[in-house]
Amino acid sequence: MYKTIVIGTGPAGLTAAIYLARANLNPLVIEGPEPGGQLTTTTEVENFPGFVNGIMGPELMDNMRKQAERFGAEFRTGWVNKVDMSKRPFTLTVEGQGELQAETLIISTGASAKYLGIPGEKDNVGRGVSTCATCDGFFFRGKKIIVIGGGDSAMEEANFLTRFASEVRVVNRRSELRASKIMQDRARENAKVTWSLDVTPLEVLAGDRGVTGLKVKNNATGAEEVLETDGVFVAIGHTPNTKFLDGQLATDELGYLLVKPGTSETDVPGVFACGDVQDHRYRQAITAAGSGCMAALDCEKFLEGNSVHDWSQSISK
Ligand code: NDP
Repeated sequence: MYKTIVIGTGPAGLTAAIYLARANLNPLVIEGPEPGGQLTTTTEVENFPGFVNGIMGPELMDNMRKQAERFGAEFRTGWVNKVDMSKRPFTLTVEGQGELQAETLIISTGASAKYLGIPGEKDNVGRGVSTCATCDGFFFRGKKIIVIGGGDSAMEEANFLTRFASEVRVVNRRSELRASKIMQDRARENAKVTWSLDVTPLEVLAGDRGVTGLKVKNNATGAEEVLETDGVFVAIGHTPNTKFLDGQLATDELGYLLVKPGTSETDVPGVFACGDVQDHRYRQAITAAGSGCMAALDCEKFLEGNSVHDWSQSISK
């Protein structure tokens, strides 16, 4: 029995863990398949306050984890298959860990990369299709790459991939880019980045040795063409990781968890949400961390007033 279990180890979950651990609540933190979250798949983070010269995403997450451990947070690895929120204490079924019980839960499972759903895309993941430039860029030394998308992620991936590739073509479905001006400017100023705007990706083409091209349609003329490439990086946004909750918490129309405005409280008392799983507006490491702090403080308050278990007695874990 735990006072609180934090599910997910991005900036939101780890910040919650730091605060909970410092409040002597001995949180258990469950790390899923992407420990550290999305920042572990990024390169340099320049906008996290406190790092004058920036910090590498994986290093930032590693630091946060160590900070949580220093104050006594316990970490376990496993996929949360099921959560029963019908009564407190809540019961979690975690792969490799069996059933775990907690009086409160903090959901910080983030969001995962979206795919286009076009033919040849999923079949060629690992054979030239990727959603993670930092993970896979290395394999494309001297090769041609396409990045699909027009947001900050696409700009960042395109710039990063020019370290390896001979050419990086950005393919976007509209002529305008969604990305912030500074990120667009960086990509536009990069001589290795070329552009195919206002085109719809139709199919990823591949041969025995992996991806060979991307078939696209020009939205203005309707003409189809094949853009030759060795790799296709899909950077079109993310989906919140809420499937394991099986509809027990209220979500918006996009599947992001709903919290009471200005708090981290979900519609189930004792369950709190923070980070990208409840935020499709800001989606920044710093806002995720801030919301993780809110969740920890809300959780602490809740335990002070609503404990079903007498924590002053010895706690069996
Ligand atoms: P966004 O939602 O901002 O952008 C998604 C892009 O993919 C858009 O250009 C969108 O087109 C396109 N797209 C979406 N679905 C499809 C589809 N089915 N087919 C073709 N194109 C599609 O996601 P990002 O991941 O880029 O960014 C998410 C958040 O993270 C943002 O707030 C961003 O600012 C932030 N971020 C910040 C970074 C930084 O500061 N270093 C780095 C990366 C992200 P359309 O515009 O037509 O909808």
